[in-house]
Amino acid sequence: MNLLTKRFQRLAGKGLLIFSLIAALCGCSLEPGLLNETAAPPPQGESLLRVIFLDVGQGASQLLIAPSGKTMLIDAGNNDNEQTMLDYLHKYGIKRLDTVIGTHPDADHIGGMDKVIDETEVGNIYLPKASSNTKTFESLLKSIQRKGLKVKTAKAGVQLDLGEGIKIKMLAPVKSYEDSNNMSAVVKVTYGKNSFLLTGDAESQSEKDMLASGADLCADVLLVGHHGSKSSTTLAFLKAVKPRYGIIQVGKDNNYGHPTQTVLQRLKKQGVEVYRNDLQGTIEVDSDGTKLTIQTER
Ligand SMILES: [Zn+2]
Repeated sequence: MNLLTKRFQRLAGKGLLIFSLIAALCGCSLEPGLLNETAAPPPQGESLLRVIFLDVGQGASQLLIAPSGKTMLIDAGNNDNEQTMLDYLHKYGIKRLDTVIGTHPDADHIGGMDKVIDETEVGNIYLPKASSNTKTFESLLKSIQRKGLKVKTAKAGVQLDLGEGIKIKMLAPVKSYEDSNNMSAVVKVTYGKNSFLLTGDAESQSEKDMLASGADLCADVLLVGHHGSKSSTTLAFLKAVKPRYGIIQVGKDNNYGHPTQTVLQRLKKQGVEVYRNDLQGTIEVDSDGTKLTIQTER
């Protein structure tokens, strides 16, 4: 599939102007005295971190390709997307996934993951301590076992490696929850001055606990929680993240009413520019460590 390039270089230029723009986007960088500690050295050359929000219909999947060549897959769409997932990996030239994260056991997130594991070399796999008695989950566990992989626990505080210059930390789940959505692994990716918050289906309870944990939630790009359901993206959470861009992974005419008007209005009111898989196909957000470039399939 050819990605039509639609460039949104909102943050053109270099130096202080850019820094102040970014700082304005990300309130956490505004604190005087912290500038030297938080400002990472700019990456050299054309080294891009690619964060690709794959169009998997009503489901979620994010593919990260680091400047080092290291790769990460967070979620893998539904069961009926298995071939689609393999096609995407082929398209992006992925032969090895250094890290795979299943945010939580719901089928629209881990459905296609068994096949991905069967067909791709995998370094590490992370799942939260949440089980499910579905065939989909069983099938994933079988694939993991066949590959001889050992599941690592996805929880707040876990740090992941995607090569030099990239900081990856899980901010949730902070606690254990009965509800599978709230068990979602939430991943924050920071590259230079840009950051992404990838939230799975985390709902208001998890958002509240992330806020209470004191974690730095601020991010330029937010994967809008739970496909834009009103169960997530509370105002308090949104105000802490202060995203410039919100990505909604949602399928056309889904039965869940995702994304909800409540969340769309809330995002609009906070000045968040929204991108959606159902309207724009696959969405790729690239960072060179200073500025973001967004390309959409349509
Ligand atoms: Zn979901």
